[in-house]
Amino acid sequence: MKAIRRFTVRTVLPESIAPLARLAKNLRWSWHQPTLELFHDLDPQNWEASGHDPIRALGAASRQTLERIAADPELVERIRTLDEGLEHYLSAPRWYQSLGEDAPRSIAYFSPEYGISAVLPQYSGGLGILAGDHLKAASDLGVPLVGVGLLYQAGYFKQSLSRDGWQQETYPVLDPNGLPLTLLREEDGTPSRINLPLPNGRHLMAQIWRADVGRVPLLLLDADVRGNDDAARGITDRLYGGGGDHRLQQELLLGMGGVKALRVFERLTGAPSPEVYHTNEGHAGFLGVERIRELMDTGMGWEEALTVTRASTVFTTHTPVPAGIDRFDQAEVRHFLSAGLAQSVPTDKVLALGAEDYEGGDSGKFNMAVMGLRLAQRANGVAKLHGEVSRQMFSGLWPGFDVSEVPITSVTNGVHVPTWVDPQLTELAKQQFGIASVHDRDWARAYEVPDQELWDLRRRLRSNLIEDVRGRVRAAWLKRGAADAQLGWTDEVLDPDILTIGFARRVPTYKRLTLMLRDPARLKALLLHPTHPVQIVVAGKSHPADEQGKRMIQDLVQFTDDPELRHRIVFLPNYDIAMARTLFPGCDVWLNNPIRPLEASGTSGMKSAINGGLNVSIMDGWWDEMYDGDNGWAIPSANPREGTHTRELYTADQRDDIEASALYDLLENTVAPLFYGQEPPGDAGAAGPSDAPADSLPREWLEMVKHTLAELGPQVSASRMLKDYVNRLYRPASDSGRTAAANQYQAAKELAAWILKVRDGWSGVSVEHVDSIGISDAPQIGDSLTIQAYVSLGSLKPSDVVVEAAYGKVSSTDKLSDHQFLDLQVAEDLGSGRYLYSGTLHIEVAGSFGYTVRVLPEHSGLASKAELGLVANA
Ligand SMILES: *Cc1c(COP(=O)(O)O)cnc(C)c1O
Repeated sequence: MKAIRRFTVRTVLPESIAPLARLAKNLRWSWHQPTLELFHDLDPQNWEASGHDPIRALGAASRQTLERIAADPELVERIRTLDEGLEHYLSAPRWYQSLGEDAPRSIAYFSPEYGISAVLPQYSGGLGILAGDHLKAASDLGVPLVGVGLLYQAGYFKQSLSRDGWQQETYPVLDPNGLPLTLLREEDGTPSRINLPLPNGRHLMAQIWRADVGRVPLLLLDADVRGNDDAARGITDRLYGGGGDHRLQQELLLGMGGVKALRVFERLTGAPSPEVYHTNEGHAGFLGVERIRELMDTGMGWEEALTVTRASTVFTTHTPVPAGIDRFDQAEVRHFLSAGLAQSVPTDKVLALGAEDYEGGDSGKFNMAVMGLRLAQRANGVAKLHGEVSRQMFSGLWPGFDVSEVPITSVTNGVHVPTWVDPQLTELAKQQFGIASVHDRDWARAYEVPDQELWDLRRRLRSNLIEDVRGRVRAAWLKRGAADAQLGWTDEVLDPDILTIGFARRVPTYKRLTLMLRDPARLKALLLHPTHPVQIVVAGKSHPADEQGKRMIQDLVQFTDDPELRHRIVFLPNYDIAMARTLFPGCDVWLNNPIRPLEASGTSGMKSAINGGLNVSIMDGWWDEMYDGDNGWAIPSANPREGTHTRELYTADQRDDIEASALYDLLENTVAPLFYGQEPPGDAGAAGPSDAPADSLPREWLEMVKHTLAELGPQVSASRMLKDYVNRLYRPASDSGRTAAANQYQAAKELAAWILKVRDGWSGVSVEHVDSIGISDAPQIGDSLTIQAYVSLGSLKPSDVVVEAAYGKVSSTDKLSDHQFLDLQVAEDLGSGRYLYSGTLHIEVAGSFGYTVRVLPEHSGLASKAELGLVANA
């Protein structure tokens, strides 16, 4: 029989163990080992059955069990102590509280997905995991962040395999009442709601769930409410499920509805209004439109409202892959706006924000990343290389400027160490050094750990993984239709003494899941090598609409099905956080082979590194800046900057051949011999592989592991990332926002009026003529040169602009490089808006030297020279 209705009956906890409710509800348990151990110890069997889910475990506990716990003084005391610890964690001052009064009072963080714990499956991959780690690190550091997102009824799909290795998707529906969530309610107990008008008189309402991620509240909008029609209820059905309209409505709800949800939250809790709005990728970009609407509803003009909003908005772009950017039809966006989503805001202005009105753009499209950049005064990519690639990619928005001047900086991603470091590594640190958890400053002590201890730890982590893998391989085969009796071999899958390589991530084409299959015979030889074999664990979900990704998975699965190889290479279905937490620590090598430079950052290699795994990776994303020659290996790229040259050196096929071959060489000749403590072949006096004494430790390998822990630990941690965001983006954004808002938005009004004036007058600005004085025919280092520039400012004044000389080395094509700038000063007012500017510079480099002069708008309210996209070059 099938139930027609379902309720989750709430457990009533006996008084003495009542604090368990809060310990279960606050997601801090997901990275707090002592709390996890408590939930395990309360009832180990129940804990396993719950899938390590405290709410589910408590819900399933019988009255008898609860009474037994309540009567056990030792458990009661542990619960009390942990609850006190949580209270202290939630309220004591932390790093952020030492920053002083002028740090932002509150920061709103918007993301379409959050990967916090396996019990809240609201993520598809790296973007969501990063968002989860961002919230957790903010909590640890006391950063007053509020997260905003959507609650998807089925989250992302669960992956299984058909008999022939084709990805199958299922969408189990979640019951929010059984999740670590609390519904926001009005004083009279009715659920709080936000409401967005839709075309044809329809409405989209949403209720708001609150998750507590340590100190950080996360608000999740849920459209599955009575009063919505079926179509509206379905808007939050799945993460990245639909296309077109469905996706657009999700994003309108996230952005515009998200700001409304924040206002409800502020009203109910008295929380301060955010002073900074940070959008994690472009999906939440409509939050800026909603903020402009709020301001224009009070009578403010468009330009002023835009100025205020931009000042306090931060936009992070996450992908150089065009397919990763949301684009809608302009007409579609107009259709929804016409329903009155933002009545006081001129629709054409909103449409212009997302218009691809630059070379190579499509005038019919509305581009969410472009809107993100136009609505945020500050923007960043997620690794140094990705910053460069993003400046190139979006340079069309700043014509007339060098790519290096495009105002997109970078903050390299990081990972939340307490979530991703294995508890056994923490335990080792505790035994060796008496520290309870590993902080950024502690990593350097890795060098002090005895080799034997470290090697034993690595083996334990590998064994853990292997045990988990065997269970998963068996379960996967049962699902694929095999009989239990046929699966004895799964108990022998993988070997705890063999070099273990991991590869797990989403399966978009550019990540090249199947690069390792390029030459199947070579891979087979590596797997079955007589003295230094490798074994490989692979996992990853393909987007349900991506046939090519599914075919790659199938190719890989079919390779792993070979009875000759299946004990050395496995594909594990349904990659998720729970699997990841065993997988990263258990792998000796983490493999990453995207097409450079399409991996914006990548974070899984970081999770491997903090557990003592060594990276073997294409020089892309975070690895491009953190590989130091001793912390892993770089796979060379055939085409160093794919997509950014007009012509590649090699075709895609040649490229994959070259890079796969480099990978095989690396694994076979360098990585594997080192792991087994063998001299790489070719070294003088190399001993035969079998000469190494059986009990000797691979000292060089362990040295690399220690070096990785010591050097990468602090660099890849999310606390480093959060501090970078606070110092480099949040604080400047809140300063700009406060300045703009002071005295009834006086500065914003002035700045907006000035921007209009400058835009109007810019066609009258030009550099008419430039002279240089004092230069001989044979200039020498140390000579000075006086530049005189005749500049027309039209209707603008010298106080509106800066006239600068850029000077330095020039190439044979007259391109300046390594150049410096010199501000020129007004030497003479020539009348009719014309001025003579001059300045003297010193020649400090030998070789070909050149200079140019340009005029830029200048105002203290601008965050970068290129911000308005206006420049008059000589
Ligand atoms: C870390 C992680 C990712 C992201 O991996 P990338 O290397 O950044 O692609 C995806 N899924 C899960 C479950 C993860 O833990």
